[in-house]
Formats: sequence, structure tokens, C-alpha cells
Amino acid sequence: MTILVTGGSGYIGSHTVLALQEAGHDVVVMDNLSNSSEESLRRVAQLSGKPVPFHQVDLTDPEGLDRLFSAYDFTAVIHFAGLKAVGESASIPLEYYYRNVAGTINLLRAMDAHDVRSIVFSSSATVYGEHNPIPYIEKMEIGASNPYGRTKEQIEDILSDLSAADERWSVALLRYFNPVGAHPSGLIGEDPQGIPNNLVPYIAQVAVGRREKLMVFGGDYDTPDGTCLRDYIHVVDLAEGHLAALNHIASRTGAFRWNLGSGRGSSVLEVLKSFEQAVGRPLPYEITGRRQGDLPAFWADPSSALADLGWSTTRSLDEMCEDHWRWQKNNPNGYAS
Ligand code: NAD
Ligand code: UDP
Repeated sequence: MTILVTGGSGYIGSHTVLALQEAGHDVVVMDNLSNSSEESLRRVAQLSGKPVPFHQVDLTDPEGLDRLFSAYDFTAVIHFAGLKAVGESASIPLEYYYRNVAGTINLLRAMDAHDVRSIVFSSSATVYGEHNPIPYIEKMEIGASNPYGRTKEQIEDILSDLSAADERWSVALLRYFNPVGAHPSGLIGEDPQGIPNNLVPYIAQVAVGRREKLMVFGGDYDTPDGTCLRDYIHVVDLAEGHLAALNHIASRTGAFRWNLGSGRGSSVLEVLKSFEQAVGRPLPYEITGRRQGDLPAFWADPSSALADLGWSTTRSLDEMCEDHWRWQKNNPNGYAS
């Protein structure tokens, strides 16, 4: 199979490109490099021993997409490209709807015009919104509570409508929980620009001396230790989930939804403790006020992915922290180091 990976030089994309190459697929990456660098792909090539053809194309450029689809005979697309910061999406919603939703429509039109109708899409647990009981199950009504989440929800709707209208389409909607960790080689990993929004990249930068201390957002939630619970998933488990979904839809049409998570909630303090264990020393932190919009606790019911795809997570929170730390320690300034 020749797979087009949009956003393939980014965090989850680069790990998935490696997993695809290791599984014997030919992979082509397109990305506009707005939140990544080609260095990630050079390192993927170093690990796999195979070059990664790269094209700098923006989703909002229909001609660029058309040229790309004319140059290759793609079997399927894995679609990671998009903007992903919840807070930023509330300040610049138009950019989020334009890049994520209009950009995806351009991609789908190019796919249709070139007879490529298999797609695996990066959705998110954020589509479950504020009102669903935990654990989250795919059949629940969704309703995101921020513009970023609504772009994911709208793209899910577009893909579902497309597959209902034209039975040639095969669609996998993957709802990721909290991806963390890095490839165990320490060569590729997450390289956030500016101040990290997410917990584990922030702790990693404290550990490497780039930030003074972790601010724990809220210690008075109704949870066992008062801090929020999330379902953390190793990025290599997540990459393997994409392969499983791709294999499933290769012989089926229709639209499918799967949660990709571990099914377990870990607290902020548990994550910090596990990271401290990986680093081998305590890390400075302070419990501060709650972050606006944070939910106290959520995790996946991952049983559909197990039943349908034979996929489940195999890597523990300690492995996530050890691998994340190896990457950060070896690359204190990310790909710029
Ligand atoms: P990332 O920013 O590392 O990767 C996204 C890539 O898309 C980047 O390389 C960026 O340069 C590229 N991109 C952005 N806009 C583009 C455009 N208009 N045209 C072409 N390329 C563009 O992010 P990631 O963490 O690897 O996330 C990948 C996908 O998974 C995203 O769609 C994200 O919303 C989704 N997701 C991520 C998380 C998470 O916590 N990391 C959780 C749930 C869902
Ligand atoms: N968090 C924190 N300090 C930080 C970043 C995150 O205490 O600097 C907490 C946050 O409140 C949440 C958990 O860590 O309870 C995971 O946050 P993240 O942003 O990584 O994921 P999300 O909240 O989007 O699931």
C-alpha cells in the first residue's frame, strides 16, 4: 500500500510513519511545517532505513493537493494535519475552522477526484464534551465544548455523511485520549513550540531545566488525590492503533469510530511521580488554581477497538515517562538541539 500521511512530520504523525514503514508500507508525507520540522522525518528514515518522500503542501491549497494526488497512486490517507491547541482555538476560531474543516474538505475533494476513498482521521476525546458519564463509549452523543473540539466533531460529521452518501468510502474516526511518550530510541518525540500546554511535555521541560516548576492546575477535585484524571496513551501504542484501523478498513466500506485509550485514569500527581522515577530525582511543583474548562476526570472504554481491531495498549505509564524523558534528555531543545 502507498499511504499519504498528512501532518506526518508532527508528533503522532512521525511515530505513525515509522510504524507504517516498519510494517512494509510505502509512505508519503505532506505537511506545511507550521508546527514541525523535516528533521523528524530524517530521523524516521534513520530508524527505518527507508527515505520518507516529503511534500510541503498546505491543506488550504487545493492546487497543491491536486498536484500531490496526481504524482502518486495512493491507497489510503491518514489525516493528522491541523491546528490542535484548545485555548488558542477560542481566540482564533476562524483560523481553526478554515485550516481544520475547510482544509479537510479540500483534502476529501482531492481524494474523491483521484479515486482514493479510504481515510483514517485523527479525532479526539474532546468531542465527548462536558456532559457524558465516564468511561466514554463511542455510541454516546458527542458535543464538544470548544472550537477545536467542534472542528473535530464537524469533520467526523462530514466523513460520516460522505460514507452514507457514497458506499465506496472507508472511514476510520479515531478518538485519541492523551498521547504521551516517545519512540524508545529517543530519536523522535514531541517538540512543542513555546510554552507547552500539555502536562507531560511541561514536566519534561522542568526536568531538563527549561522551566522552573510544574504548576498543578487544581488540587481540590473530587478525585482520589484531588488532581484531575486522564487516560494517557503511549504514542507508539497510538501509532499501532492506526495500523490496526487501516488494516480493518482496507477490506470494508462504511464509517467506523474507535476510542484509542488505555481505559485507565491517572492523576496529575501520579504522572509527576512516574516522571520523577524516570528522571531519578524529585521535581519542583506547586498546586495552583484550576484551569478553566478542565474536566475532573475522563478515560476511554477501549473495548470496541479490542473487539473490532484486536488492538489494545501494551505500554505502561512508567514506560511512557521513561521514553518521554529519554527523548527530552537527549534533545533538550527538541529537533533544534
Ligand atoms: P502536531 O502539531 O505535532 O502535528 C500536526 C501537523 O500538522 C504538524 O506537523 C503541522 O505542521 C501540520 N499542519 C497543521 N496545519 C496544517 C495545514 N493547514 N496543512 C498542512 N499541514 C498542517 O500534532 P499531533 O499532536 O501530532 O496531532 C496530530 C493530530 O492528532 C491533530 O489533528 C490533533 O488535533 C490530533 N490529536 C492530538 C492529540 C494530542 O494530544 N497530541 C489528542 C487528540 C487528537
Ligand atoms: N495540567 C497541569 N499543569 C500543566 C498542564 C496540565 O496540572 O502545566 C493538568 C491539566 O489540568 C489536566 C492534566 O494535567 O488535568 C492533563 O492536561 P493536558 O493539557 O495534558 O490534557 P487535557 O486536559 O487536554 O486532557
